[in-house]
Amino acid sequence: MKMPESNFDVSVNLTVGSTDQASTIDVLIVGLPDQDSLPPSLGELDRLGGSWLTRLVESGQLRGNRGELTTLGVPTDTGPKMLLVVGLGESELSRLDAFELTAAAIRSLLDRPRGRVEVRFADEVATEHHDAMVAGALTACEGQALYRSEPSLKLPTEIAFPNLSQEQLDRGRVIGESINQARRMVNEPPAVLYPASFAKTVINLFADSETSVEVWDENRLADEGCRAILAVGSGSARPPRLVIMSHLCGGDEPPIVLVGKGVTFDSGGLSLKPSDAMIDMKCDMAGAATVVGVMHALSCLGIQRNVIGLCGLAENMVSGTSYKLGDVIKTRSGKTIEILNTDAEGRVVLADTLDVAKAFQPRAIIDLATLTGACMVALGRDVVGAMTNNTDLLKQIESAAAGEGELIWELPMFRHYDDQVKSKVADIKNIGDGRWGGAITAAKFLENFVDELPWVHLDIAGPAFADQPKPHRDAGATGVMVRTLLRWIES
Ligand SMILES: [Zn+2]
Repeated sequence: MKMPESNFDVSVNLTVGSTDQASTIDVLIVGLPDQDSLPPSLGELDRLGGSWLTRLVESGQLRGNRGELTTLGVPTDTGPKMLLVVGLGESELSRLDAFELTAAAIRSLLDRPRGRVEVRFADEVATEHHDAMVAGALTACEGQALYRSEPSLKLPTEIAFPNLSQEQLDRGRVIGESINQARRMVNEPPAVLYPASFAKTVINLFADSETSVEVWDENRLADEGCRAILAVGSGSARPPRLVIMSHLCGGDEPPIVLVGKGVTFDSGGLSLKPSDAMIDMKCDMAGAATVVGVMHALSCLGIQRNVIGLCGLAENMVSGTSYKLGDVIKTRSGKTIEILNTDAEGRVVLADTLDVAKAFQPRAIIDLATLTGACMVALGRDVVGAMTNNTDLLKQIESAAAGEGELIWELPMFRHYDDQVKSKVADIKNIGDGRWGGAITAAKFLENFVDELPWVHLDIAGPAFADQPKPHRDAGATGVMVRTLLRWIES
């Protein structure tokens, strides 16, 4: 099948610095705190229209509730053409607020073509969060409508941030583009993004960078004993891949290894999913895409750390060569897995990928996977489930997530769950006993492949892909955890 090329290009001209000629601004975005009077910072604009803003605030027509957006025409030809007033609320803005408020403001403007848009509420945001404003603005400009003949998001010709330093702008741009990179890969259809094309995308992405990329094709995977990855991909005409990205800028320190599940399409295999459950299964490589996004940020920001990114890539399909229920696979580690459900394939792919991770003798392994529906049952759609064999390491990740406003919650790893993945014929089986505690039994399975190395497993099945849009973001891929992992690695 030949797919059309996506014609959607998020190249926004981002600038710092202001203009003397306010009338060349199409939309000026300003912030309004939740208070009864107009803040002095808006005095100049107020005078443009004979205290029009004061009258609107005092009559309650213009409000500063956090997140409320009000668009106003400006009644003079010397000012900007339009004013977009962003409600800032009462309390200090968090980093997440800076990200989401800027994103929501920009997103609200993308329904028609605009020229210069100026974001002028940075003074209300702590300087260390200025980059989050830029990142938010960029993520607003990327959506899931990659194949509309007429782009549904009309990007402004320029987004200016007058009160930002060039350094914060550049950093925010990298973070925004890295999140968008992960989202773009998830949003691409499975006929476009399959194991080999995923690998090719990564090679192109890092072509002019210090990050080296190695790709194991099906022959190399066989040589390396990655029988679990090969088994999951065995029903597909698109053979599996393993991608290794190396960002080695941290001297002699042992590396962090990030591991992503990259099932580029999950039909469930012979344990076939019903059609409704299969609709979004292009997103089953979101863990791998997140790893690519984080590696992209590390590379562009030149972060002085040693980090390896691994993507285990396979397409889980139905055919005469599919792996089967009752099959026993000898994984790369030597441990044997009994397959009792071919739709529990992510952990099978990760079994070998985690074993490759171990070979780097890392100081920490973090894996990301859209692994279980059970995690969504437990925590809902917006919260990442975290499981670990090392509480201190998880505390670090939780603290980074809190700093970015991303939601994660720990699920227990009691020893008593261990029995639930024991197999009668092999070392372990790829599903638990029944569906209870399914997010945890999946993690228990994975724990078998990290030995004693410090490890955190992040189940992103819920938050990686959104059914509904939010004011700050389109539906579809979200890029969850890119910011958290970048912050953790930098800390
Ligand atoms: Zn599956």
